[in-house]
Amino acid sequence: ENRVSAAPRIEPEPRWDPVLVRRIVVIRTVSTVALGIAAFLLPMLGPGRYWLGLLLVFAVPAGSFVVYVVVPPDRVLATSTVVDMVWTVAIAFVMPSVYGPAMMVAISMLSFVANEDSRSLWIASTIGVLGFGLAGAVRQIDFALVDMIVFVMLLPLAFFVAVTQREREVRHQVRIRHRVEHDGLTGLRNRAGLTAAMGDREVTAVIALDLDGFKDINDTLGHDAGDELLIALASRMTGVVGHRGTLARTGGDEFAVLAHCPDPETLAFELLQACRHRVTLGEIDVGVGASIGLAFAAPNGHVDPQELMRRADLAMYEAKRTQGGVKRWSDQTRSASRNRISLTGDVERAFENDEFVLYFQPIVDAVSGEVVDSEGLLRWLHPTHGLLLPNDFLELVEGIGRRGAMDRLVFDRAARFAARIRPFNVGVSLNVSAASLLRSSLPQTLAATLARHDVVPRRITVEVIEDEMLDEHATARAVLSALGELGVGIAIDDFGTGHSSLSRLRRLPVTSLKIDRTFVSAMLASDDDEAIVGAVSRLGQSLDLLVVAEGVEDMAVRDHIVAADLPIDRLQGYGVARPMPEDDLVEWIEARRRVTVG
Ligand code: C2E
Ligand code: CA
Ligand code: CA
Repeated sequence: ENRVSAAPRIEPEPRWDPVLVRRIVVIRTVSTVALGIAAFLLPMLGPGRYWLGLLLVFAVPAGSFVVYVVVPPDRVLATSTVVDMVWTVAIAFVMPSVYGPAMMVAISMLSFVANEDSRSLWIASTIGVLGFGLAGAVRQIDFALVDMIVFVMLLPLAFFVAVTQREREVRHQVRIRHRVEHDGLTGLRNRAGLTAAMGDREVTAVIALDLDGFKDINDTLGHDAGDELLIALASRMTGVVGHRGTLARTGGDEFAVLAHCPDPETLAFELLQACRHRVTLGEIDVGVGASIGLAFAAPNGHVDPQELMRRADLAMYEAKRTQGGVKRWSDQTRSASRNRISLTGDVERAFENDEFVLYFQPIVDAVSGEVVDSEGLLRWLHPTHGLLLPNDFLELVEGIGRRGAMDRLVFDRAARFAARIRPFNVGVSLNVSAASLLRSSLPQTLAATLARHDVVPRRITVEVIEDEMLDEHATARAVLSALGELGVGIAIDDFGTGHSSLSRLRRLPVTSLKIDRTFVSAMLASDDDEAIVGAVSRLGQSLDLLVVAEGVEDMAVRDHIVAADLPIDRLQGYGVARPMPEDDLVEWIEARRRVTVG
């Protein structure tokens, strides 16, 4: 029952984008009319200009319109350009005195075709108007027949080249957009595609669907079986949804529907049934279930679809939690939204929407106070929960297997910022979790990212937390030495809290120690903490490491460090500055330089 064999491609890739075509036609029409009016107003063109003006204001746009209505979208551009060309040639033969301007019109048409943006409109109009002037000036000179023939031959050729080139570009653009908005496996729209479809039709509800038990099938039968199951269910759900909504695959085993029908709840239950039907994969019948969240649009109209999407997700998590099948969004769901489960669902979206950013905190030279480095610290600018700190979400992101993606994001933003502040001669430090050091491709990834941003490795310091793993695990050791060879600095973070031994520090390619902020911030109040800070900094000095004190919460700590002559090279903490967005830090550095110089 319900056997699905080949992968059905659900939405074919379009060859042409009607919206783009409409835009081009409108721009061409507007500019033709403008040129026609210009022809009326330029007496130097002689009496023929009235004919030319009428032609441009009425006949040519009317022709374009007919073409636009009659011809299929993917041929509109080519056809109307050929029509333009015919106009031009006709003018050349029938009204030789305006032949020059007509040619200019043709050239400007060519320019619209080559480029549909508004800048080319200006360029084309300018060319056209200049052409009128020129032609008016030389009007007395007769064109030889042979010139006419040359032009008449050359124009079609030029048009042909421009049009085919342009068509290829537009097709390519359309294909790329299709790819960005669709899921390669099932052919359904993806999250971006769903967002793009939001304005198209009235949405009565959003349905969020997450398969139950999919992971088990993936794990036991393998990814191919998992893929086959997704394809089968996608095609089945496509049949169920039909014209009642827009279906998308929004994540691994997550789907969503923008419902357009008056009774979305029925649709949701039908989808649930569809998912529960067993699917035959090769020799085996497998069954999954689904948890579904449903969020209705307000009857009076406007809750925006993004918000509906979020509500549907929340209701879906609630359904998952309570084994509830279909769950409708309500105010209770909202209050459950503070929990981690809802954040889990937000992580993918956060990656897509650039909600993860790096803030930067300056690190200054202990003696001169000059900014020498800056530490990148992750923040999640969450659309509803506001600014979240790493402790609120890092574990979660890593728990759902996105550590690699997060590291790549951090590398990229850190490298970009390093390139930006190169003129200030300030470095960038970034954090990686101990577990990331088990990924042997990490140094390679970092090297590639730095190269892409044209940043030399010595401007970068990688901070790793003091952890036993660092020397117990061969991969971690190998990754650390590869980083050392790459030439980036390596800092042991939160030093003093873990189990470091001297021998370990010597064996690793470490370049700096960061004394944990708990000791530093307490050192004025507690003799023990002061003793630890003293001992750790002297240890660092003896190993020839750069020593950084974290958690310098006020300048009294700094004064004390300097007065006690502790071998601490750099300071970081709220007392210097808090972590801030990169623009702010650039401003902060500039302001500080001005003060120092002035
Ligand atoms: P960390 O590496 O020790 O980062 C320093 C933390 O101390 C930051 O907290 C910073 O805001 C805070 N801090 C700075 N100055 C002071 C001060 O004077 N007093 C006090 N009490 N705190 C200060 P944040 O940003 O919440 O980061 C917490 C931890 O999250 C970091 O500790 C780091 O272990 C981790 N983390 C941050 N960004 C990343 C990242 O991009 N990747 C990874 N893997 N971990 C990160
Ligand atoms: Ca750190
Ligand atoms: Ca630290």
